[in-house]
Amino acid sequence: MLIKRFIDGNESLAYAFINYNSPNLLNKKVKFMTLKPAEQKSGHLVIPGERLGVIEEFIPDSGTYVKDSVIYSKIVGHALVDLLNKRVTVYPVEEGVVVPKVSTVVIGQIGNAQSDNVLVKIFRIGKKKLSGEFGGILHISDVSDRYVTSMNDVCKPGDIVRAKVISEKNRIYHLTTNDKNLGILYAFCSRCGNLLEPQRYELHCPKCGNTESRKMAPDYGKEPI
Ligand SMILES: [Zn+2]
Repeated sequence: MLIKRFIDGNESLAYAFINYNSPNLLNKKVKFMTLKPAEQKSGHLVIPGERLGVIEEFIPDSGTYVKDSVIYSKIVGHALVDLLNKRVTVYPVEEGVVVPKVSTVVIGQIGNAQSDNVLVKIFRIGKKKLSGEFGGILHISDVSDRYVTSMNDVCKPGDIVRAKVISEKNRIYHLTTNDKNLGILYAFCSRCGNLLEPQRYELHCPKCGNTESRKMAPDYGKEPI
C-alpha cells in the first residue's frame, strides 16, 4: 500500500511502502499501546521528531532519540512498542526501490524503432509498478526464434510488451521476447490508433478493418496494466 503523508501541512512528502504482513511486526508478541490515543504509535509509520513515549514508561531502542525525557523517532519507519519488554523501536522503512535485474520479467512500452531494434520504456517489474522509468532495448535477434525481417512486423511504437532482461550495461537493459510467455500484450492500429484485437495469428482493428502482425504474448489483451 502506498502511503502519502503530509508533514506539517507543507509540501514536503514522505513516501513509504507499508507492509502490514511484515514478519518484523507479526513475529513479535506486540500488544498495541495503552498510552493516550495521541501516543498509540505501534505499527504506525512515524517520521523524525515524532513523539513515541516517555522514558519513565519505555526504554528507547534503535531508531529513536530522547530529549527532555521524551522518546522521539529519529528516522522514517514503523514504530514498534513492545509492552512486554517496555521497549520502543523504530524500524526503517524498506527502500522499496525496484530495479530490473538479469532474468527478471518486465513490462514496458515500445518507443523509438529502428529497423533492427526498438527502445522500450520499462515501467513495471513483475507486479511492481516503478516510480521512474528504465530504458530497455530489444534487438531483432532477440524477438523470436523465427527469422524476423523487420521490427515493424513484430512490434510498433506505443505497443505494450512483456519481455525478459538478458543483460544490463550502463543502466540500459537488453531485453528478449524469445519465449512462449513473452511478447506484445497490447497493440494499437497504425492506421487509426484503435486497440487491436487478436484474430488467430494476426491482430485485427475493429474500427477500420486493418490487419497487423505482432510477436504476441499468449495472453494478449488480458494483462492488467
Ligand atoms: Zn484501425
